[in-house]
This record gives sequence, structure tokens and C-alpha cells, in this order.
Amino acid sequence: MIKENLLAVEKCIDESSKKRQQDMIEKVKLVAVTKNHTVEEMREAIAAGAAFIGENRVQEALEKYPQIGNTVEWHLIGHLQTNKVKQAVKIFDLIESVDSIKLAETINKEAIKINKLQNILVQVNLVKEQSKYGVYIEDLPALLSDIDGLPNLKLCGLMFIAPNLENLEEVRPMFKSMYKLFRKIQKTAYQTADVKYLSMGMTHDYKIAVEEGANIVRVGTAIFGPRQY
Ligand SMILES: *Cc1c(COP(=O)(O)O)cnc(C)c1O
Repeated sequence: MIKENLLAVEKCIDESSKKRQQDMIEKVKLVAVTKNHTVEEMREAIAAGAAFIGENRVQEALEKYPQIGNTVEWHLIGHLQTNKVKQAVKIFDLIESVDSIKLAETINKEAIKINKLQNILVQVNLVKEQSKYGVYIEDLPALLSDIDGLPNLKLCGLMFIAPNLENLEEVRPMFKSMYKLFRKIQKTAYQTADVKYLSMGMTHDYKIAVEEGANIVRVGTAIFGPRQY
């Protein structure tokens, strides 16, 4: 089923891409979110063409990494604690969840130690949800310019987790706001950044996210089915 599901999601992404504005040229990357799924299931997805893997816990990713290897791109999509940074920097190609200067500095320090330029996204808490991580809009410019001064971090864009609302049309304006913010940051003259990714959209809302300009979507359930906790 995983193969069929993956192909179906890819097809939906293609369909939604057609509804985008002309300037949203970037191709959409599908991150297969494998948290709480087995290495076997991961292999099945990879055999079917999944090239980007999303994990939300460093420990779980560390256990799977030796069995999967680095032929796929590893994305950290969950909150990162500073005491896990050293391990995270070893395996993740893109850390999507940077939301504080303290965390950014710690990642930079560990990246320097292993001579790595660490790609990151900054997670934005657009509507100030208490239950979510992410930087508030008003604190974003300061965080981004601080990150710009850290030599072993490369800012690649923004990440957003939308509130889980019944009515998806209430989420659409948030995706629109994120796209505007993303464009604004693209035009800001950061020294070391290459702002090209806007990561938003999960199983229940990725189609709308793509329509509104996401070029990374993080999809778990629609590919692997419900997670067992
Ligand atoms: C789990 C998770 C996803 C995937 O969620 P699904 O609803 O299963 O598609 C996406 N993004 C983040 C940050 C997650 O933690």
C-alpha cells in the first residue's frame, strides 16, 4: 500500500501545483514522515521513490539512520533540545525546527566541530499557538540576522505547522501569510542565506499548502497510515 499511497500523494501535489501563481516556480519536495514507523516501511517508501525522510525525534532517527543510510535526505521536523544538537548535526541534512538564537548558536558550535555547513529552516509560530514551538513574527527579523552571523549555519527558508482546524479554508489565509513572509525574507540581503524553501502542509492540509506556495510538504499518515503510539 505504501507505494500506491506515495504515488497518490505525488499526484495530488502535481494537481495542486497547477493551481499556483506563476511566480511559485519551485518544484515541491515531498518529505515522507516516518516517525513511529519501522525501517521496513521506510525501505518500502524509498524503493517507491521517496527521497526525503522526516523524523521528529533525534533518538529515533539515530536508531534508523545506520540501517537506511545517507542515500536519502534526512530532515528533522520536530523540536530540537540543545542536549541533542550534537547528534542531530551528525545525521540531518536539513534541520527544519530552529526557533531560538540559543538553539542556532548551539547548532553552529557543533557544526564547526565537525566542519559542516548545516542547512536550517526557521520555524514560525504565526498565530502564537501556546502548544507549538516556533518564533513569533515580531522576533523573526532579529533571529534571522543573528543566524546570518553564524558561519556554519545556512538559512534555507521557513517552516510552519498550521493549527489543526476542521475547516481548511481557515488555514488558507495563514499559508498565504507565510508565503508573503517567505518572499519578503527572500528579498532581504542576508550574507550567508539561500532562502529557497517554504515547508508547510501535512496530511490533512498539504494540498492547500501547495496551492499557496509551499515547496516542501511533510506527509506521514497519507503515505504510511495511522501511527501506533
Ligand atoms: C508528524 C508530523 C508531520 C506529518 O503529519 P501527518 O499528519 O501524519 O502527515 C508533519 N510535520 C510535523 C512537524 C510532524 O511532527
